[in-house]
Amino acid sequence: MSDERCKKTVTTDTFRGRKCSRKPWKDGYCKQHHPETAAKKQEEYRKRFDERMLKLRAAGDVSKWRTAVVEAACNFIEGEPQVLLLKHAVNAYRAAQKALDDLCSGDSQ
Ligand SMILES: [Zn+2]
Repeated sequence: MSDERCKKTVTTDTFRGRKCSRKPWKDGYCKQHHPETAAKKQEEYRKRFDERMLKLRAAGDVSKWRTAVVEAACNFIEGEPQVLLLKHAVNAYRAAQKALDDLCSGDSQ
């Protein structure tokens, strides 16, 4: 019983599966191949993916509002001063930038 192995068959570059050589940890699987670990890993991937999507969207908002600010500023000096529009664009731009900063400040690196 001492040479018990993990149930998982791992694929090798020879296209032939071989049994994982680690010792079982729980339910006949080693810690790395246990379904619990696999589910946790998938959850981590999903979280990282969601974060990346949020950052992309936030970055898109920043550039969209930056354009709006520039447009409003151009209108402003070209004789169509719409203070409220400019203010709105600037505020939205600041909020978008802050949202992006907040998202990025959570990074460890
Ligand atoms: Zn294993």
